[in-house]
Amino acid sequence: MKTGPGRMKRCGAFAALALVPFCVQSVDAQTPPGDPKDTEQWEPVPPVVTPGAHPGAPPSDAIVLFDGRNLEQWVNTKDHAPAAWKVAHGVMTVVKSVGNIETKRLFKNYQLHLEWQVPKGITGEGQARGNSGLFLASTAPGDGGYEVQILDSFNNKTYVNGQAASIYKQSPPLVNAMRPPGEWQTYDVVWTAPVFEPDGTLKTSAYVTVFHNGVLVQNHFQLTGETLYIGQPKYRPYDRAAIKLQAHGDPSAPISFRNIWVRELN
Ligand code: MG
Repeated sequence: MKTGPGRMKRCGAFAALALVPFCVQSVDAQTPPGDPKDTEQWEPVPPVVTPGAHPGAPPSDAIVLFDGRNLEQWVNTKDHAPAAWKVAHGVMTVVKSVGNIETKRLFKNYQLHLEWQVPKGITGEGQARGNSGLFLASTAPGDGGYEVQILDSFNNKTYVNGQAASIYKQSPPLVNAMRPPGEWQTYDVVWTAPVFEPDGTLKTSAYVTVFHNGVLVQNHFQLTGETLYIGQPKYRPYDRAAIKLQAHGDPSAPISFRNIWVRELN
């Protein structure tokens, strides 16, 4: 509400009829001294970004990592050959024998959007039911890095810091926002990469915020290191890293992905 000097605070008609004199008072006494211009910032002007045409669509400054057509932006993690996961009908699907795939580009801080689907009729239980993973920074071959878990957690008990949308073995999701198998899930992630001193010691921790299907599940969580299967998390210095998707070795049917884009925040 704009309230200029000398403006009067008004009372409702009912109160006025009741003749309550203190209802009408000057707000001058509440206006602090000083010039409002002192706290106005005019430069630099934020760059213009055209939002996506619909929720989840990439904005104009996004790097599209998968638009349903091909895996041009991806390589196999193990040999850096062209990524050999299956692409059909606008969707990419894990090929477990190929192993993990990762982006050709390397990233630091970013916003990421990714959609994934557990196949209808998924079988198995616990960690062996639709296991995959989104590695926010691939710091080593295999499963090295920082994993946001992908799993069927619609009706599937496992350790909570290993269910879908957990920061694997570090932070359970705040809530379980899982849709049933056969429906598409979204992850929207803000990743703040760790920073290291020249000698490799940690300068500032990594932080992550995650929305699962639009629901906040990780709120600026401070990581204590890479997400390890066994042992306590620890940091390993890196500067820029690929984003990696996991081909987990469990026997359940493979996970699919679509509509993946990233906005660098360097
Ligand atoms: Mg996983």
